[in-house]
Amino acid sequence: MSDPIVSLRDLRRTFEQGGQRIEVLRGVNLDIMPGEIVALLGPSGSGKSTMLQAVGLLEGGFEGSIAIAGERAEKLASDERTRIRREHLGFVYQFHHLLPDFNATENVVMPQMVAGVDRAEATVRAEQLLTDLGLGHRLTHRPNQLSGGEQQRVAVARALANQPTLVLADEPTGNLDETTSDTVLGQFLELVRGEGSAALIATHNERLASRMDRIVRLHDGVLD
Ligand code: ADP
Ligand code: MG
Repeated sequence: MSDPIVSLRDLRRTFEQGGQRIEVLRGVNLDIMPGEIVALLGPSGSGKSTMLQAVGLLEGGFEGSIAIAGERAEKLASDERTRIRREHLGFVYQFHHLLPDFNATENVVMPQMVAGVDRAEATVRAEQLLTDLGLGHRLTHRPNQLSGGEQQRVAVARALANQPTLVLADEPTGNLDETTSDTVLGQFLELVRGEGSAALIATHNERLASRMDRIVRLHDGVLD
């Protein structure tokens, strides 16, 4: 057996608001194996986004341990966390967050160039990813010239651009109608499987979750 790509141990997060303490994560434990696609299921307000922010090393304030590819992130300085994010993680959000002044291909080229890939090579990969996602005819469209489903597919291509070991997705199709949501999720899962990445995908939709390799449920601040 290989080692897990993510290990969470007794992960805790408490928010203080108006003199009140809200314990959102109360001891989360989880291992994700390389290439495994895990659905993070829970109703709105159960702490899915909070948990993804922790795993994505996007925010401090957590207790417990988070290991990514064998590195204990809670012990690292912020520039080291940035390195882990760049080397290992890809993100898809509910709203696409694409750069409005750049076309689909350029939005997928950009993170590769930041990682040191030259423009020509990055462009070949961007066009390949977008074509795999059914967007071969939309390569030079800007975000505002794309439908919601197309925008999310560009965001998926961008997240996969640097071959992340783990893709983190926060309700990636939560903003789409049911039919589009099914299609986009199918293409997303197929691409992640093809690339061999692992994924942790938050959703409150049982039907979408059932298409992933495993479901974990966030309930009262723990996974059951
Ligand atoms: P989900 O993504 O499952 O809908 P969230 O992780 O967004 O849930 O939120 C879980 C709980 O934590 C909610 O009750 C929310 O109000 C609270 N929460 C999230 N972020 C903050 C914050 N920055 N300050 C205070 N409370 C927060
Ligand atoms: Mg959320």
